[in-house]
Amino acid sequence: MDTRDSLRHQGMRKRLVEAIRIKGVRDERVLNAIQKVPRHLFMDSSFIQFAYKDQAFPIGAGQTISQPFTVAFQSQLLDVQPSDKVLEVGTGSGYQAAVLVEMGAQVYTIERQRELYMKVQQLLPDLGYHPKFFFGDGYKGLPTYGPFDKIIITAGAPVIPQDLLTQLRVGGVLVAPIGPTEKQVMYKVTRISEEEYEKEKHGTFVFVPMLKGTVN
Ligand code: SAH
Repeated sequence: MDTRDSLRHQGMRKRLVEAIRIKGVRDERVLNAIQKVPRHLFMDSSFIQFAYKDQAFPIGAGQTISQPFTVAFQSQLLDVQPSDKVLEVGTGSGYQAAVLVEMGAQVYTIERQRELYMKVQQLLPDLGYHPKFFFGDGYKGLPTYGPFDKIIITAGAPVIPQDLLTQLRVGGVLVAPIGPTEKQVMYKVTRISEEEYEKEKHGTFVFVPMLKGTVN
């Protein structure tokens, strides 16, 4: 594939970053990452021309690349610090993972659809991004790699997955859209002790559903 970025693309990204800033994301580390990641290279060829619109688009296998504002908003809530160990559930196009890598995180990303898992393993390293890729059911997390400083779910889960809460270190943060398939509430959950979690709600969003099991 053509892994080129150009001044024209960079200019379109600058306008996208300003649009996201106006919608309320003010964390410069997040905005810098959005400025750097060439979103058009994560999209299906039929949608490339729309890559810098602030919208979600199909990426195949019935899934979508999240809207840039949503990626920025979740990344801001996650409060990523350089070298944070971050688990992402729902690799999809790999765009959110690339944004997290760009912010300096050590990223572990898990996908339940083999087709998408195979595709990103080719694309991201070509673009210079090296998260660790896993094929599996994100409801289970990655018990042997935890605990994580941060966990981000990029699909709508009916409830906060218990196994993921236990893989968060004390002081760690989980950001996830929780609710029925029609719409979810963005939760930020902080593990304040072994047993206690503090929950905050941050508006409504619509994600593709977080499903159980894997698809080969
Ligand atoms: N972060 C992605 C968003 C993709 S959409 C991006 O930046 O493009 C959500 C993704 O979550 C889909 O690829 C879907 O297959 C995946 N998914 C849904 N349920 C899952 C689960 N239980 N475990 C892992 N991935 C899951």
